Amino acid sequence: MDCIFCKIVAGEIPSAKVYEDDRILAFKDINPCAPVHTIIIPKEHSITCCNDITEDNAEIVAYIFSKIPHIAKLCGTEEGYRVVNNCGALGAQSVFHIHFHLIGGTQLSEKLN
Ligand code: 5GP
Ligand code: ZN
Repeated sequence: MDCIFCKIVAGEIPSAKVYEDDRILAFKDINPCAPVHTIIIPKEHSITCCNDITEDNAEIVAYIFSKIPHIAKLCGTEEGYRVVNNCGALGAQSVFHIHFHLIGGTQLSEKLN
């Protein structure tokens, strides 16, 4: 499968890893929009976007969120941050392997778009 994030999981594309366990990987975004911009992904390419989340596969999404406080702490942004998912073309999603952006390290704007 020609998926950039699967290649990062496989080590075929290098990444600056922030956190890794047997199920998920967090790494620095190559084009950060804030001092902290970390991408968190499930290692398995089973969900492409939020529209593919079902009751049957949602557990990995819950698992990712259960690790976000730890990952935010590792990034030094536990005081405050934003978790973003871009879904679909209108949501400006560019990599179709579900992922969450952890953004912080500065005072974020109240505006979301
Ligand atoms: P999306 O637009 O799909 O929500 O987010 C994809 C993110 O992946 C973008 O913020 C983009 O900068 C990041 N990205 C794309 N290719 C690479 C890469 O090869 N390495 C890293 N670390 N980030 C990438
Ligand atoms: Zn993938």
